[in-house]
Amino acid sequence: MKALVKAEAREGLWMQDVPVPEIGPDDVLIKVHKTGICGTDVHIWNWDDWAQKTVPVPLVTGHEFAGEIVEIGHRVEDLAIGQRCSGEGHLIGKHSRQSRAGKFHLDPETRGIGVNEQGAFAQYLRLPAFNVVPLPDEIDDEIGAILDPLGNAVHTALSFDLVGEDVLITGAGPIGIMAAAVARHVGARHVVITDVNPERLALAEKVADVVPVNVAEHDLNDVKAGLKMKEGFDVGLEMSGNQRALDQMVEALVMGGRIALLGIPPGKSPVDWSRIVFKAITIKGVYGREIFETWYKMIAMLENGLDVRGVITHRFKAAEFQEGFAAMRSGNSGKVVLEW
Ligand code: NAD
Ligand code: ZN
Repeated sequence: MKALVKAEAREGLWMQDVPVPEIGPDDVLIKVHKTGICGTDVHIWNWDDWAQKTVPVPLVTGHEFAGEIVEIGHRVEDLAIGQRCSGEGHLIGKHSRQSRAGKFHLDPETRGIGVNEQGAFAQYLRLPAFNVVPLPDEIDDEIGAILDPLGNAVHTALSFDLVGEDVLITGAGPIGIMAAAVARHVGARHVVITDVNPERLALAEKVADVVPVNVAEHDLNDVKAGLKMKEGFDVGLEMSGNQRALDQMVEALVMGGRIALLGIPPGKSPVDWSRIVFKAITIKGVYGREIFETWYKMIAMLENGLDVRGVITHRFKAAEFQEGFAAMRSGNSGKVVLEW
């Protein structure tokens, strides 16, 4: 089969012929239809420090996918050949305290497909049946292929009650934009999204009913005044990984405000802790998706009018992957989807 492989320990990815994976008794084989390119895949392409420390070579990359089940292990009972599906790309252990408490997304032994294990940028993917998420007819393959990052957005956005609340999202990347759409969908009052990239802010405005703010040019305080917000935002969703964005968020929050942090800063970054203490702010780190509560809620919202299709800005055949990665590396794209 064709697969996009990290074949050498240097910049780039290579389309290669590799064997179709063999499945075990508890696995399924999925014929991949569409995949999403993630920022993580760009790190792997670039072969940065994180990738060098994390990714074994050779490795089939990719973790955002939708497809259909074509083979089933003999112990798998509740799935059928032909079932359309996406799936959780975090492979969890079942022995840790958190897993045994049913909090699978907190398992410390989590391994990622396309990062630690063979991935989804391929014609076929082996996945434990446990990780499969069947797709209803209403969710087509390209939306199915971006459920992983939508799940990051949903997990973060639903960390705190947003009903009637004023929400500040820092970072209008694909995940920030989808989080804005989710915040709107669940009934936030004002949703403000910041970035320093005008193209990303224009995309945010197109996809979700939000107030875009270019913080390189405008002061958030003016925006608050314009929206008649007396004190500050109730909830912050940090989705840029940028230190200045976090500082700005802390300043812009109401006393007792809540922050969900998804963005990953590059290395250690200084935080004004006393400011956080005196403002009595709650901070929650968010990793991945809740398994499988996030998937359940996200699919239910998609079936009930949540529309994130506009965040997909580029569609390519898998053979054109270089163009797909070029779009991602430009920093101006939304989601880029490859068809296999
Ligand atoms: P992205 O890099 O596409 O988007 C980040 C955006 O932040 C960019 O548009 C950038 O211009 C903007 N930005 C930079 N400086 C800013 C500032 N001062 N204020 C406001 N915005 C600023 O990333 P993405 O794919 O949308 O992912 C969002 C973040 O979430 C990334 O940091 C990513 O690494 C992280 N992430 C975390 C998890 C997790 O499980 N915790 C999963 C996926 C992604
Ligand atoms: Zn991803």
